[in-house]
Formats: sequence, structure tokens, C-alpha cells
Amino acid sequence: MAECIFCRLAADPDFKAIYSDDDVIAFDDINPQAPTHFLVVTRQHLATLAEVTNDHLLGSLFEVANRVARERGIFEKGYRLVVNSGTDGGQTVAHVHVHVLGGRKLSWPPG
Ligand code: AMP
Ligand code: ZN
Repeated sequence: MAECIFCRLAADPDFKAIYSDDDVIAFDDINPQAPTHFLVVTRQHLATLAEVTNDHLLGSLFEVANRVARERGIFEKGYRLVVNSGTDGGQTVAHVHVHVLGGRKLSWPPG
């Protein structure tokens, strides 16, 4: 998926991810919606969460979200994981990713 921005970032040897392993990478969102806002992204191109049928990969997305949240100092006060899926879900990049937001009090419900 050469035209996919997240595939391109994951394949770039010079890209400075904040976390990287065989399954996922994490990096700061380019348009942060909170003082801390990073994304956890599968290395494999999967368009939406519905395509993640591998339990290990599903676990990795959440494990890494929590791990990086701890490293970023938002673990104790709390944070939010968001997965936008499909058009009505507000997904704009068709490559599965978990948003992790924290560092301020977040409102609920979302818009
Ligand atoms: P979503 O709307 O859930 O698909 O989220 C896509 C997110 O990717 C948005 O929050 C964008 O700001 C973010 N984004 C798009 N391109 C980049 C990029 N090159 N680097 C980091 N974040 C990006
Ligand atoms: Zn992709």
C-alpha cells in the first residue's frame, strides 16, 4: 500500500517512532487534540479495526497504548483510547490505529 501514509511511515527506516516492534509502531499525532496525543498503528496494512482478526495483534495495540501512556506520564491521571472506524466513525486514514489522548480532562460524550 504505497499510497497509504501510515504504511509509508512504518516502512521508512529514518522515521522516529516513539515505540516500535514487529507488530506495531507508535508516533505523535501530527494534529494533536490533547497535550499528549499519539497513535498506535499496525505494521500490517489493515483498513479498519474490523479487519484485525488476530488476537495477538489486537492485544499489542492495547498493550503498547498502555505502555507508551505510562512512559509519557499520563498513566496515573488517566487517558482515553479511541478507534475511529469507517466513515460514520470519523476515520480519515484507512489504516487501523488507536488514538491515545491525555494530559487534560477530556469531555464526554464526543461529538
Ligand atoms: P482518524 O481520523 O481516526 O483516521 O485519525 C487519523 C489521524 O492521523 C488524525 O488524528 C491525523 O491528525 C493523523 N495523521 C495524519 N497524517 C499523519 C502523519 N503523517 N503523522 C502523524 N499523524 C498523522
Ligand atoms: Zn497502510
